[in-house]
Amino acid sequence: MEKVIIVGTGCAGLTAAIYAARANLSPLVLEGHEPGGQLSTTTLVENFPGFPEGINGPELIMAMKSQAERFGARFSYEAVEDLEKADGFLRVKIDGKWQDTRTLIIASGASAKWLGLPHEKTLVGHGLTSCATCDGAFYRNVPVAVVGGGDSAAEEATFLTRFASKVHLIHRRDTLRASKIMADRALANPKIEPVWNTAPVEYLTDGEGEMRALKIKDVNTGAERELEVKCVFVAIGHTPNTAPFKGKLDMDENGYLLQREGTKTNLPGVFAAGDVADHVYRQAVTAAGQGCAAALDAEKYLAQFEH
Ligand code: NAP
Repeated sequence: MEKVIIVGTGCAGLTAAIYAARANLSPLVLEGHEPGGQLSTTTLVENFPGFPEGINGPELIMAMKSQAERFGARFSYEAVEDLEKADGFLRVKIDGKWQDTRTLIIASGASAKWLGLPHEKTLVGHGLTSCATCDGAFYRNVPVAVVGGGDSAAEEATFLTRFASKVHLIHRRDTLRASKIMADRALANPKIEPVWNTAPVEYLTDGEGEMRALKIKDVNTGAERELEVKCVFVAIGHTPNTAPFKGKLDMDENGYLLQREGTKTNLPGVFAAGDVADHVYRQAVTAAGQGCAAALDAEKYLAQFEH
C-alpha cells in the first residue's frame, strides 16, 4: 500500500512531491507520457519568482525534480490508466497493474490542442508540431507558420524568428489575445507577419509527405489561398489530461477536474493540482502553489490512518 501516488511531473506534481517527501511520505511519482509537463518544452521563464534574469523551463523542472529526490520521492516513467475506490483506500491501474494507495494527487496537466484538420496526426513530425522549442531549430532559413493568438502563439512566433526566414502568425481574429508585452514584442519583430481574420483549412504536403504549404481562408470573405511554409506550429491552447478519470471524478464541461475545499476532488483521498484543474490562471507558480496545497491536504487526510 502506497501512502501517496502523484500523477505528473510538471510544476504542480514536483512541488507536491517535494512537500510529500519532506513530510516523510516517500511519494511514488508517475512521470506519464509528458515528463516535465509544459515547462519542459518552453524556453526562458521570466515570471517565476526568485529568478531575476529568468530561468530555462527544463532547468527549473530538473532542479525541482532533484529537490524532490533529495527528500526521498521515487520516480517512475509509468502512466495511470484507471482509478477505483475501495474501502478506506484507492486502487490505481498503472501500466496494466493495479496498485493500492491511500491517496492520489492528480497533477497530470494539460496537453496541446490540435486544429482537427485531415491527416493531422500523421503529419506530426513531418512539418507539423505544437512545440517550437522542440522543433524550431529544424526549420532554419525557411518560412513557417504559427496558428493562434494567445501568449503561446506570440511566444512561439518570437522564438521561431531565431531560425525561420519568416514567421506567418495566423489568427482567426484581428487582435491577439496575448498579454500586451508579449503581443507587442511579437508584432514589433520584422520577421513576424500577422495574417489576421484567417483560419487554416488544409495541410498540403509534397511528394515525400512533408509539409509544403498551408491552405488558409479569410473568415470574412471566404477567399482561400496557399501559404508556402515548411512547418506549421499549432499554438491554440490545451486540453486537460483527465481521460483515465472520466466517470470517476467530477469534471467541468471541458474535462477540467473540479476541486472543492482546497484541492479535494469528489472522491476522498484524491486531490487535484495545477493545470488539470485550473483553466483560469495556468501559470507555473500557481501550479506549484496548488501542488504544495495538495500535498498538505493529502498529509492531513492520511492522519486518520495513523495509530
Ligand atoms: P489561449 O490563451 O487559450 O489562446 C488560444 C488562442 O488560440 C486564442 O487566440 C484562440 O483564438 C486560438 N484558437 C483556439 N482554438 C482555435 C482554433 N480551432 N482555430 C484557430 N485558432 C484557435 O492559450 P495559450 O496561448 O496556450 O495560453 C494559455 C495560458 O498560458 C494563458 O493563461 C497564457 O497567459 C499562459 N501562457 C503564458 C506564457 C508566458 O507567460 N511565458 C506563455 C504561454 C502561455 P481566440 O483568441 O479567437 O479565442
